Amino acid sequence: MTEAYKIIDHTYDTVVVGAGGSGLRATMGSAEAGLKTACITKLFPTRSHTVAAQGGIAASLGNNSPDHWTWHMYDTVKGSDWLGDQDAIEYMVREAPAAVIELEHAGVPFSRNENGTIYQRPFGGHMQNMGAGPPVQRTCAAADRTGHAMLHALYQQSLKYDADFYIEYFAIDLIMEDGPNGKECRGVIAICMEDGSIHRFRSHAVVLATGGYGRAYFSATSAHSCTGDGGGMVLRAGLPLQDLEFVQFHPTGIYGAGVLITEGARGEGGYLTNSEGERFMERYAPSAKDLASRDVVSRSMAMEMREGRGVGEHKDHIFLHLDHIDPKVLAERLPGITESGKIFAGVDLTRQPLPVTPTVHYNMGGIPCNYHGQVVTKKGDDPEVIVPGLFAVGEAACVSVHGANRLGSNSLIDLVVFGRATGLFLKDNLKPNASHRALPADAADLALSRLDHYRNAKGSTPTADIRLDMQRTMQKHAAVFRDSALLAEGVSQMQAVNKRLQDVKVTDRSLIWNTDLIETLELDNLMSQAICTMEGAEARKESRGAHAHEDFPNRDDENWMKHTISWFEGWGGSGGKVTLDYRPVHDYTMTDEAEYVKPKARVY
Ligand SMILES: Cc1cc2nc3c(=O)[nH]c(=O)nc-3n(C[C@H](O)[C@H](O)[C@H](O)COP(=O)(O)OP(=O)(O)OC[C@H]3O[C@@H](n4cnc5c(N)ncnc54)[C@H](O)[C@@H]3O)c2cc1C
Repeated sequence: MTEAYKIIDHTYDTVVVGAGGSGLRATMGSAEAGLKTACITKLFPTRSHTVAAQGGIAASLGNNSPDHWTWHMYDTVKGSDWLGDQDAIEYMVREAPAAVIELEHAGVPFSRNENGTIYQRPFGGHMQNMGAGPPVQRTCAAADRTGHAMLHALYQQSLKYDADFYIEYFAIDLIMEDGPNGKECRGVIAICMEDGSIHRFRSHAVVLATGGYGRAYFSATSAHSCTGDGGGMVLRAGLPLQDLEFVQFHPTGIYGAGVLITEGARGEGGYLTNSEGERFMERYAPSAKDLASRDVVSRSMAMEMREGRGVGEHKDHIFLHLDHIDPKVLAERLPGITESGKIFAGVDLTRQPLPVTPTVHYNMGGIPCNYHGQVVTKKGDDPEVIVPGLFAVGEAACVSVHGANRLGSNSLIDLVVFGRATGLFLKDNLKPNASHRALPADAADLALSRLDHYRNAKGSTPTADIRLDMQRTMQKHAAVFRDSALLAEGVSQMQAVNKRLQDVKVTDRSLIWNTDLIETLELDNLMSQAICTMEGAEARKESRGAHAHEDFPNRDDENWMKHTISWFEGWGGSGGKVTLDYRPVHDYTMTDEAEYVKPKARVY
């Protein structure tokens, strides 16, 4: 190392990295249990991407139509195209109603029905009667600002308990140590972005709640901060990520800007048309129509555009109509998107259709873990070896409840249910203020060598150029439709893009609010996951959920009903080798009260 960095030490029972919905819920649970808890976050908590969630949070409360958790379970398994783990799905949907009531009591101002109960709207893929229909109203909403309301309530609650917040601290790498049963996590190294000080956190548990890596793509609804830092850290720790090839495209990103228009818009009666003014979803999904699941709607839109029925000069987008809905309803239930339509498309939704196109929205894959949040890896024949000290929650994690395709409003419920479950597990398994072993002498080496390397990077290519190259490659080669040639080319192009990182140029050498440096560390995290996404997709010779492979158009349960796990070698443009393996999908439920949902053809 070229420079000695001064290190400030901290000791905690639990360190949570991330203050979105999942991180805050885990922080709250850990602190409430009397554990000494820190939450490290690169953003101010209420600026986390959860704040942008519009549509709502799914739970079978049955306020606006009959509902049951077994129906929610059926829809989630079917939505996942049978790649979701059914025990974890059962856990989520059973806990969901209580989790929503808990949020209500925590202060989330949900929209109301006349009789005072929480208002629920229809959402894609959510049905009554074990998928038979009609659509169910299951998605609880605070107008179209549900995530915003949740984040504020959860942050306030976390402050009530004695959690310490390290705000605008960027976590660089995990502290890993070889234990008797393999790798253990002992803490995390972070930099305070304001003054450049380095912080070494020693803890019994590290919970990664760092969100998705949507920014690996050119056009995404996710914030610029969604760079998958937790996933990057896990790969560098020599642990695998799971199911990265399943990337959700939301049907209605505003054309050009990529800003999201919630599925709640279609839930409230909005519909899509092509250049001929036809409501084409009636052809692709005769029963659910515009409320079929996201992968189905996105693919149908892509088909229309390919066949020349897209709208606009380049026939490269589709119209979303809300102009037939009573303006009063729009103002009450969808005020935020009415504003977005005006600002980002210059459209008055009450009179004109909105130009939309499928846009990257969510990562079904992530850090493999069980429903207690414990991170797992595969060793030899054992597909689920627990990594002591390491936990993951939220979009960063892959439990896996969303399998190959997530249903709308199932992420927010995932955040709170598994954030809470992790808090409960820590409560049951850690003793407040238990003594700590000394950290290994090399605890900060990986983090500091990367920091120092990038801070002094004297190559010739700006970070932004390499990032754009990666984003365009992903957008072209691993999008809504994939085929063997496109993916094979994508694999070699991504390897070439990765090499360019060796020539990266960082111009700011300071440690004070060095955004150039932070963005380069983020790019490093995005890159490894982008490559694993591409290689996992190239290897999967079937179509399932969000992975639509034109040369293998059918789902192949016999050979491919299994989770992909991928390891990545190196960082900073060196290495780049991906190792793929697979682990079985849980084809069992948690209790006898739930019935295993048998695979069948997925039609809406
Ligand atoms: C526009 C939009 C609308 C959505 N609408 C809905 C919806 O209506 N319903 C639904 O169910 N789902 C919705 N989703 C999906 C859902 O909102 C997200 O999956 C979810 O909010 C992710 O929450 P999270 O807690 O995992 O992470 P995030 O909210 O993304 O938070 C990540 C946290 O990690 C921290 N962090 C990251 N890296 C580091 C680092 N290196 N060091 C320190 N801190 C770090 C950040 O500061 C942040 O606090 C939507 C997503 C988008 C993009």
